[in-house]
Amino acid sequence: MEASILNLSKLQVKQVINASGKMSILGVSTVQDNVIEAMKYGGQSFFEMADLVKKSGEIVAEYFATESAIIVNSASSGIALSIAGLIAKDDRYASEKLYQIAPDRPNEVLILKGQNVDYGAPVETMINLGGGKLIEVGYSNGCKIDQIEGAITANTIAFFYVKSHHAVQKNMPSLQEIKELCNRHSLPLIIDAAAEGDLKQFSEIADLVIYSGSKAIDGPTSGIVAGKKKLIQYIELQSKIIGRVMKVGKETIFGILQALENYQTKEDDVEGQLETLETLKPLNNLPGVQVMTQQDESGRAIYRGRIMIDEQITGISALQVIEKLKSGTIAIYTRDYYANEGHFDIDPRPLKDGDIDIITNRIKEIIGGVHS
Ligand SMILES: *Cc1c(COP(=O)(O)O)cnc(C)c1O
Repeated sequence: MEASILNLSKLQVKQVINASGKMSILGVSTVQDNVIEAMKYGGQSFFEMADLVKKSGEIVAEYFATESAIIVNSASSGIALSIAGLIAKDDRYASEKLYQIAPDRPNEVLILKGQNVDYGAPVETMINLGGGKLIEVGYSNGCKIDQIEGAITANTIAFFYVKSHHAVQKNMPSLQEIKELCNRHSLPLIIDAAAEGDLKQFSEIADLVIYSGSKAIDGPTSGIVAGKKKLIQYIELQSKIIGRVMKVGKETIFGILQALENYQTKEDDVEGQLETLETLKPLNNLPGVQVMTQQDESGRAIYRGRIMIDEQITGISALQVIEKLKSGTIAIYTRDYYANEGHFDIDPRPLKDGDIDIITNRIKEIIGGVHS
């Protein structure tokens, strides 16, 4: 007999339409059927776990073109485990006593001040969780290579580079310059590329590179650390100690492997995106509302519908429309970074069949309701 699925009405969570993109607060991404199938197989079977971790790591390393790799339960845990690994190395005793011993061992991790970001949780907290002490270099609006060099001491264990739209981009040294500096000082370079889409881009340059499994890769909640064999071995040891609180399940290992395979053949469905956005066009008939199709700012093959609200005419601001969309019976989340400029965007990629009609009708209802 099939086990019955948890009665969703009992849970009483709101239905969400995500027109925003990859958002941790909405559960990041949804997985494809074959990923669930793989997770089902993993979840319903037993394995020699050490063997599964090792073999799955070998497959992952191929996708990332690195010597070695390990699947972890999030990019965040990947950060903590990498730092703990660099502090304790292959010393099991030091790993078990991490927080007693770390303060007396080399444990300083350098980061550009402009990259010490909060991605939903602070990078700094994850580095502390691994026993590391974060040393910011440079200033919030810039950093020079000699400012980094000056901060390197006998206690420095790594340079932590954050590749992210959250980080300050201008007046920062290039990754290549940082790599050369790290080489001169034999300092491991860790790159947090959690949300990046190119899996091989940093493999040459980084000693360890960290990705989130549920962002670009559309896998289950998970993370990947890929890089030098020795350093991945340190992380394997950590995964049995502080990593126990960040345990990755066998079902997740199968899910992320399937997601990685899917990702190799994934194509951007621009035609599908544009077709979905057509449904928004009738909103142009509302006084004070204008709909446009916009390509992604950084030139990726992503098209979004931009809804521009002229508050003078509609009597309601873009910000207020966004709030109403979120607080309806079905919570609709849009891409709202520029709401204060009077517009918000609809990302068609995470939408399911019928979502775009619900969004269009709800916007009509909100704006039509202002003067009635
Ligand atoms: C999202 C993100 C993380 C954390 O990823 P999780 O898998 O959610 O833990 C870390 N660093 C950066 C730059 C991110 O964008």
